[in-house]
Amino acid sequence: MAKTPIENRITTSVQLTHPERVYWPDDGVSKQELVDYYALAWPRMAPFVVNRPLALLRCPDGIDGPRFFQKHAWKGINSHIVEITDPQDKESAKLLKIGDFDGLAALVQSAALEIHPWGTTIDHWEKPDMIIMDLDPGEDINWNEVIAAAKEIRERFVALGLASFVKTSGGKGLHVVASLKPAAAWPQVKDTAEAIAHSMSADHPDRYLSVASKAKRAGHIFIDYLRNGRGNTAVAPYSTRARPGAAVSMPIAWEELNGKIGPASFTVRNAAERLGNSSTDPWADFFEAASELKS
Ligand code: ATP
Ligand code: MN
Ligand code: MN
Repeated sequence: MAKTPIENRITTSVQLTHPERVYWPDDGVSKQELVDYYALAWPRMAPFVVNRPLALLRCPDGIDGPRFFQKHAWKGINSHIVEITDPQDKESAKLLKIGDFDGLAALVQSAALEIHPWGTTIDHWEKPDMIIMDLDPGEDINWNEVIAAAKEIRERFVALGLASFVKTSGGKGLHVVASLKPAAAWPQVKDTAEAIAHSMSADHPDRYLSVASKAKRAGHIFIDYLRNGRGNTAVAPYSTRARPGAAVSMPIAWEELNGKIGPASFTVRNAAERLGNSSTDPWADFFEAASELKS
């Protein structure tokens, strides 16, 4: 696979202070390495993070230090991170978005080590453009069972006329994301996700769980449909995780989904080869593949 020539990489005017500062101490991954990774990921990542309300997991001292899950601005916030007003909550604190790569570089500078967008853009706040099914394996679950669950969700989306795409979470599981034309509103989208989860647990109660009970999770896969309410978030495609290993949530092709690719296989360090210009983008057709959710 060819690497992206350096001269084609997007650059930023955002000043990184202390680019050598290490965010993942065990792995030695620095602020500069992180911005270089995102420069490579940017063409693929942009449509999933630009102009969407964002929640950020900030770790100013790296992943071993204090962490803050933030939806609102902080003192001294970089001007490339933009405040936006939730049209349904005009009285409350403003939310945050980015509009371009400078915004992403500003997030790196701000030690936002996880980026969690809403499943919609601010152009159509009330009409999400995706359904996110988060597969959370409990103890004693074999990876092949998680893969089988992802494929089962894909089939259920097919039955609804929806194309879906899969990514590693960068943590323990997989995310299956269906592509929607922004038409149905949040309640219908959440109901659809919930119905899929409940029907899977009804069909295979020994395998799947559709209630958020940590106590019952052992030996089951929790089909977490709760990413789909208004204001809920899930980690963005290509976002890093603030966990040891510097893994990223990596979009993959359905054909790649096998025992060789684990949930945290792709990292800031090894992603460059995959993200080279001439390598295929398994999610390239995401927005073209969108269909309307039938009512
Ligand atoms: P894993 O594979 O380990 O499950 P994941 O990203 O799917 O990784 P979950 O624990 O399943 O992680 O999901 C947590 C979700 O909850 C995230 O998608 C995030 O957007 C949301 N969230 C809400 N509040 C918080 C918080 N305080 N800290 C982290 N995540 C939060
Ligand atoms: Mn999960
Ligand atoms: Mn979850």
